[in-house]
Amino acid sequence: MSGFVPSDIYAAGPTDGKKTSALISPAKYIQGEGVLDHLGEYLKVFDSKRVGILASRRGHETQGLRVVDSLKKSGCVSVLSIFEGECCRDAINFHLNELQSESVDTLVSLGGGKCVDAGKCVASRLEITSVIVPTLASNDAPCSAVSALYTNQGVMDGVEFFASSPSLVLVDTGVIAQAPPRYLVAGMGDAMATWYESRVCMNNPEGTTILGVRPTLAASAMGELCSKILFEEGEQALAATKRSEVNLSLEKVVEANTLLSGVGFESGGLAGAHGFAHGYTHVPIVEERYLHGEMVAMGVQAQLMMEKDVFEADRVAKFFSRVGLPVCLSQMSLSRFDNAALNSVVEGALGYQAFRNFPFDVTAEKLRKAIIDADELGREIVRFKGDRAYKYFHDR
Ligand SMILES: [Zn+2]
Repeated sequence: MSGFVPSDIYAAGPTDGKKTSALISPAKYIQGEGVLDHLGEYLKVFDSKRVGILASRRGHETQGLRVVDSLKKSGCVSVLSIFEGECCRDAINFHLNELQSESVDTLVSLGGGKCVDAGKCVASRLEITSVIVPTLASNDAPCSAVSALYTNQGVMDGVEFFASSPSLVLVDTGVIAQAPPRYLVAGMGDAMATWYESRVCMNNPEGTTILGVRPTLAASAMGELCSKILFEEGEQALAATKRSEVNLSLEKVVEANTLLSGVGFESGGLAGAHGFAHGYTHVPIVEERYLHGEMVAMGVQAQLMMEKDVFEADRVAKFFSRVGLPVCLSQMSLSRFDNAALNSVVEGALGYQAFRNFPFDVTAEKLRKAIIDADELGREIVRFKGDRAYKYFHDR
């Protein structure tokens, strides 16, 4: 483990972290339909010669040949390593040993959130150029300098920060359009949180980002743009992925889910939505069945109810319901009467550091009330419109 703690660096001075603001981001972000075929060209600026490819099974099967072909055309040697399972310490060490013996100078991480997070860990330990090629737009992992770590059994086991952000994030929207629509939708839940969490951090003079400093105006504006794009383009983008096609709406939503949300959360600040989502991971059936962005979506509603911003909670929940994100506990295999499960969510959430960004004390009672109030609102919305949109994605 590198043991890098960003607040030790950024919050240390010359003023304290309540007066300093900072923005970190990937060095390059390139997005478009077909850009994956130019990967080898893009790597020329890094002088890459021996390129490790850490690919998820699905990433390898669908895009592996394209990546290898493109690298070959640019004279690079490819070394493939297949990532499976969790982003856990055992998996990281396994791939580290495998790639270290091949003396690679660049690592391309090709896959979903867990593969990308594992790739960031491996590249950081090898101190080589880190290139991220997400095959899904389901989360805000690709652009950040932080990875979520899990146990071998899939229970969240802390985070690891890196001194450097990825050198290049390359997003082929043609690849994203081929993925099952549920992933893009989950990414919209994760991305929608960015603005509401950043807003808390910005409005409270004591609020700090995960870098231990004040948010920048730029990152906060990215968060706000995220939510605007989702409200305006989310449904048309979803329609495109259902046809496995790229349209302008999909391009915009992919950028919102990946770049705006990634830089937005890292340098704009987190608050309640990710705290509640963290709480949901403590219930095994939820952790097993639902995606990060789906848990964050539930967290957005609960956060807004805790802030007593019922207008925005209603607006967001209606949008979530239209695109097929969960809006009430029954859509997360939970019930408000299941005390043991709700206690786990509340206890899991309570220790989440970003709750400190609220200008009021966050107690177990407040968290529980927010979850129940959000459930009440969500149930009203479902009752009003029927549950068809949700069932479309979640029949299993
Ligand atoms: Zn997230």
